[in-house]
Amino acid sequence: MVEVKLENIVKTFGETVALKGINLDIKHGELFTLLGPSGCGKSTTLRIIAGLDYPDSGRIYFGDNEVTYLPSHQRGAVLVFQNYALWPHMSVFDNIAYGLKIRKVPKEEIKKKVEWALELVRLKGFEDRYPTQLSGGQQQRVAIARALVVEPKVLLLDEPLSNLDAKLRLEMRSEIRRIQRELGITVIYVTHDQEEAMAISDRIAVMNVGTVEQVGTPKEIYENPRTEFVASFMGKTNVIPAKVVEREGDRVTVEFEHFRLDGLTYTGEKDEVVLVIRPERIQLKPGENTVAIEGTVDLVEYYGFFVEVIGLFGETRIIARTISDREVGNLKPTQPVTFYIDRRNIIVLPKQQL
Ligand code: ATP
Repeated sequence: MVEVKLENIVKTFGETVALKGINLDIKHGELFTLLGPSGCGKSTTLRIIAGLDYPDSGRIYFGDNEVTYLPSHQRGAVLVFQNYALWPHMSVFDNIAYGLKIRKVPKEEIKKKVEWALELVRLKGFEDRYPTQLSGGQQQRVAIARALVVEPKVLLLDEPLSNLDAKLRLEMRSEIRRIQRELGITVIYVTHDQEEAMAISDRIAVMNVGTVEQVGTPKEIYENPRTEFVASFMGKTNVIPAKVVEREGDRVTVEFEHFRLDGLTYTGEKDEVVLVIRPERIQLKPGENTVAIEGTVDLVEYYGFFVEVIGLFGETRIIARTISDREVGNLKPTQPVTFYIDRRNIIVLPKQQL
């Protein structure tokens, strides 16, 4: 069942086309993330789903119901803002109870529901405190409790962790995941942090200047990026400009610097391409089906549980990552090095104007 469906959503602000025709199918009970750089249209998409803004054209459905122009409070979607937006003059209890009071829920029931929400976000005993007496993480929990207490069909979270320090961010990330699983509700989550998106999401939509470039599970997006933009946005990776010089069906030979790599798979039309190679897919020893490139060591960086060898191949820097110290041995800058890459781990994509 599709819980939230966006059909060809276009939104302009004066000259700026913020959304250029967004299509998304978000499933019931899914934690779905909109990921992309600043200004790509994530928040605008979320506001339009929440009903805080309306599109110029296109339609939005919640289940079978069209909600495109339905006022926010009639949709069953609640947005939690980045800055929490708690009322400073109200206690934690009153902050959480607010949405129920304006819905004229009986007092006894409000008490029960607020208790339930506080328990859910693990803040029992905090009901009489005021927002200024809470840490950032606790304020975030109150904001989430306030959103959940009205039992929304869809919870919308806009960069909910960006005001928290690194440790708390990790903790709250698991908390959001736990709550989402416990309630089985649909969550649409916005972030520009690819690692956060990978860790928390069932599926991710990667956005770039008002368009969706790819939708998939974290694994699909990481291992099978369909565009250069997606590949370069999803973590540290090698994106090497190259040229197709021979083709036979979908088998191609490409050149970069003075290297010639044959037997790669590519179905695109453009000859200007990029080779996408994840650092952890590069080996320092030959293996089955590998191509070899010879260069010199530029840097060796120890990260504790893995080591990165950065090689120079002509002008091109390529990062190899290995978890085995032994494999790296005594490699030092300026020494010759050969990188081996299984052909199946070289993704050839058309060069994109980024
Ligand atoms: P960030 O991560 O920085 O919040 P975002 O991906 O959420 O970015 P949006 O806030 O959706 O991006 O903005 C998309 C585009 O629309 C940007 O170019 C932005 O400048 C523009 N924009 C958004 N809201 C307005 C507005 N109210 N008036 C004019 N332009 C706007």
